[in-house]
Amino acid sequence: KEKTLAIIKPDGLLGNYTNDIKRKVLEYGFSISKEKIVHLDEVTVKRFYAEHSSKSFFSSLINYMTSGPVLVMVLEKDNAIADWRALMGPTDASKAKITHPHSIRAMCGLNTEKNCVHGSDSSKSAQREISFFFGELSTD
Ligand code: ATP
Ligand code: MG
Repeated sequence: KEKTLAIIKPDGLLGNYTNDIKRKVLEYGFSISKEKIVHLDEVTVKRFYAEHSSKSFFSSLINYMTSGPVLVMVLEKDNAIADWRALMGPTDASKAKITHPHSIRAMCGLNTEKNCVHGSDSSKSAQREISFFFGELSTD
């Protein structure tokens, strides 16, 4: 089975979407093999999103991701990486509401930034992100 890293971002957790998201996760055949709630600090989010450090939205993204606790999960199923991204829907949640009305971002996201959930974008990213949060060198 394949593994991917999923995050319910601060707007998802504070907006009480966790149970609805988890229900969809299980309904679509994923199992949740690890999970933890963390309140990310600036240094950690900057490391996690290092690939976006030169983007104009970077500082805003850091503020968003540190604005409250997040739920980090390892999801497992065949084709987990692509299937989780499909279930999340497109990055821009306002578009997701029109084009992917059954997606998670349509359900609980707001716009291109506040889009409620994260999912690894490749198997290399999944490995990096899973060990980032759950590996021996992770902070807890
Ligand atoms: P994620 O990586 O969270 O699964 P993604 O792969 O669809 O989403 P990326 O391009 O990797 O999107 O961007 C990472 C995150 O940065 C997005 O999920 C979103 O929160 C934020 N973001 C991306 N593009 C923009 C933008 N143009 N303006 C503001 N925030 C953005
Ligand atoms: Mg991405």
